[in-house]
Amino acid sequence: MARLLSRSLPYVCACLMSASMLLGECVSWPPADGNGTAEKLIVVASLFPLYDMARSVGGNASSVSVLLPPGVEAHTYEPRPSDVEKISKAGVFIYVGAGMEPWAQSLVDGAGNSDLSVLDASTKADLISAEIVPSGVAREGNGAYDPHLWLDFGNDEKIVHAMSDVMSAKDPADSAYFARNADAYINQLKEMDGRYNRTLKNCRIRVFVTGGHSAFAYLARRYNLTGISAYGLSPDSEPTPQTIRYIDNIVKAHGVRYVLFEDTVSPKVADALAEGTGAKTLSFSPGENLPKEEYDNGVTFPDLLEKDLETLKTALECR
Ligand SMILES: [Zn+2]
Repeated sequence: MARLLSRSLPYVCACLMSASMLLGECVSWPPADGNGTAEKLIVVASLFPLYDMARSVGGNASSVSVLLPPGVEAHTYEPRPSDVEKISKAGVFIYVGAGMEPWAQSLVDGAGNSDLSVLDASTKADLISAEIVPSGVAREGNGAYDPHLWLDFGNDEKIVHAMSDVMSAKDPADSAYFARNADAYINQLKEMDGRYNRTLKNCRIRVFVTGGHSAFAYLARRYNLTGISAYGLSPDSEPTPQTIRYIDNIVKAHGVRYVLFEDTVSPKVADALAEGTGAKTLSFSPGENLPKEEYDNGVTFPDLLEKDLETLKTALECR
């Protein structure tokens, strides 16, 4: 009955449109959001970029949460019993895949939720092999691919569409709403992609150096840049003196004036690299997590990408 009523609301609204417009109330009734069903679709995402995409697509028709607590390093995260509990109550679980969350399958198995739809985002992405990460230093990850696939707007577009599809299959009454939200988010990303292309077209150098981990190969591929990182695909072991010497030489050879660092990785390597060469340091985020205050301030994935573009513009000395 509730569903029948809510479905008939748009027609009721059309009849009342002129009267309520006069009263200036039509914006609030009926709600221009996902009200196809009374119950919100429960969605759980593993990491921040997927969380931001999912909450944008799901909007008011969903209740979206993220597993990785604020400020925590993503690659070394171990799920907690409360994560199993979350998955056991969810309708949709979205994770990166490609070795980013080696615990994802056992988490899903442990939750024993037969109603759960699972989306492995890596199955929708154009992946980069871990062996050919263009960093110049040895790489190894948990799998055969570099998992930082969200730092490519082409991948994000496919992932956002896939989210809309999986949410619509769970909640068909809100499918038009999900599709509309997905399109709006994708348009935002396309606009950002255009800005990256324009900004990164004319730069003095096309090499950037990070004292963090090798998380930027997708971004480098998309904009024809080379990223050199002190750590491997995961920031789990200290860089060797050999790696530091290699990066030091890159910094000197290209006249790199800014060494980038990540908020979730100790800045001491970036500081040491900068100190040895007279370079400055700048914060640069792969987006896999946010500090708590940024979560609290409602920072979005596009916000983060905008900040990263400013950092790159400075570091690469773009006109
Ligand atoms: Zn990473």
